Amino acid sequence: MPDIKFLEKQPLYTKFPFNVPEFILQFDQVNINMFCNVCDGNRTFNMTNEYDDSFIHIHPKLLRESEARSNMNKYITLDYLCASCKEFMRFFFIRVDENFEYIQKIGQFPPLDISIPEYIKKVIGKEYEDYFKKGRISENFGFGIGAHAYYRRIIEGIIDDLLDKISNLLPDIEKEKYEEALTKAKKTKNAAEKIEIVKDLIPPILIQDRYNPLRTLHEALSIGIHVESDEICIENAIIIRKNLEFLVEAIYRYEEKSKEYIKDMDNLKKKLEKYKS
Ligand SMILES: [Zn+2]
Repeated sequence: MPDIKFLEKQPLYTKFPFNVPEFILQFDQVNINMFCNVCDGNRTFNMTNEYDDSFIHIHPKLLRESEARSNMNKYITLDYLCASCKEFMRFFFIRVDENFEYIQKIGQFPPLDISIPEYIKKVIGKEYEDYFKKGRISENFGFGIGAHAYYRRIIEGIIDDLLDKISNLLPDIEKEKYEEALTKAKKTKNAAEKIEIVKDLIPPILIQDRYNPLRTLHEALSIGIHVESDEICIENAIIIRKNLEFLVEAIYRYEEKSKEYIKDMDNLKKKLEKYKS
């Protein structure tokens, strides 16, 4: 179909602005890169059916097919086959908006992935793993307010610990200033307030080009889910999840590397001691 990002990532029932051609046949056929259960890894998938072969769902009032093709909503089925094993398939069901302004996924099998990376599970713990999963499911169904609320709950629950761990990534000279701010932050009630206090003292290693993940997180947490639409909430929910994943991964990798380094050094030093004696 039309767009790689749309097929690979777009949650169900969300509007994807698209310049819809007049006829289904004029849609491009694109290859996508997604997980294959048989190959057990990401692979290229090719579209195997034709747009004009897709069953056209016509309202009984419209008898002429040509009229249905250009004037009615279109519901299109897409079949995709893994190019490596030629066994595993993915299916998409797409709706074209009646004003031809957007397209929408209304079905997908297998569903979008909700697996949680191991490092996330280790850092957020069992209690929040469940919220993370529910957040991913809400995201995939386009329930922005729900996803936002689940991710926010995780951040509220782990924020003190997360900010403590960030301090380990700072050089000694900047640590003191950060920890002073952190003590102040811990006395405040919610995550957005805590982040506000320390966000500009973040370790340079965490800054990515023009993005400071704590500042971005702060902005996304500050939107009011009571007043914003599902569409706005979903974008912000994804920002919260991505920044959470980035921070947790950076902290986890640093801790693992540090442990590994200390273990290696201990072993090497022990060996040297033996030679000396
Ligand atoms: Zn495969």
